[in-house]
Amino acid sequence: MLNYNLHLHSIYSDGSNKPEEYVKKAIEMGFVSMGFSEHSPLPFNNPFSLKQENVENYINTINQLKQKYSDKIKIFRGLEMDYIPGMSTDFGYWKNKCEAEYLIGSVHLVKPPNIDDLWFTDGPLYETYDQGLNDFFGGDIKLAVKTYYHQMNEMINTQEFDIVGHVDKIKMHNRDRYFKEDEPWYQYLVDECLNLIREKKIIVEINTRGIYKKRYPGLFPDGITLKKVRKLNIPIILSSDAHQPNELNLGFKEAAKKIKEIGFEELMFFKDGQWNQNSINY
Ligand SMILES: [Zn+2]
Ligand SMILES: [Zn+2]
Repeated sequence: MLNYNLHLHSIYSDGSNKPEEYVKKAIEMGFVSMGFSEHSPLPFNNPFSLKQENVENYINTINQLKQKYSDKIKIFRGLEMDYIPGMSTDFGYWKNKCEAEYLIGSVHLVKPPNIDDLWFTDGPLYETYDQGLNDFFGGDIKLAVKTYYHQMNEMINTQEFDIVGHVDKIKMHNRDRYFKEDEPWYQYLVDECLNLIREKKIIVEINTRGIYKKRYPGLFPDGITLKKVRKLNIPIILSSDAHQPNELNLGFKEAAKKIKEIGFEELMFFKDGQWNQNSINY
């Protein structure tokens, strides 16, 4: 079914609205469940992640909403964890602190080797991506992308979490300019990462944000990578990575059509703290 979404951001991280406005919209859309996944606190100042001093408010606010709307929708409290080697706190620490029911593990900031800085690969501007590629990796796209996937692999190997967020988002600002998805060196990195995901029994998120924000004309992941996810029989979940209430189900219909065509028959569904498979009906 397409009536739930566990990847969304409210004003507690970098979303635009208060949590209750997402809940009301979700009910209006006929959702059966939803999960808030604010960006986890980081040990440095930044404009996008949950502030440590707001953790208690986040817990209380979601608890109140759970109760208030308990007869209409099931609400979960999660976190989107940022993994940065040597910098981010162990995922379990924030899971406990925020009383999170599930975790999404993502890489948005890549740590370049031997440089005390971070390459921001996400966000709206491809110029930031290009500048980091040049400043931190001397324009070597293979080294830059390899560093991204190795950071992802390190996260999978060392942290406990449920869903890997937008696994191939590194391709977003590339837009086929520096490399093509079918190049063997790139697919080698994808294979390494997907094999690890399968081994650790992690769910792969199919993220629609690139499409509706018009930053990338496809899903994260899409194309060859998405077909490989199917071939490896890795469980998937559909999410829009909403930062506004009206983004809660954007791109879902198109994405469901595509994943069905590729041969996926089921999506993961979260209920009572457990993951189950649900058939894709729409
Ligand atoms: Zn993300
Ligand atoms: Zn997100």
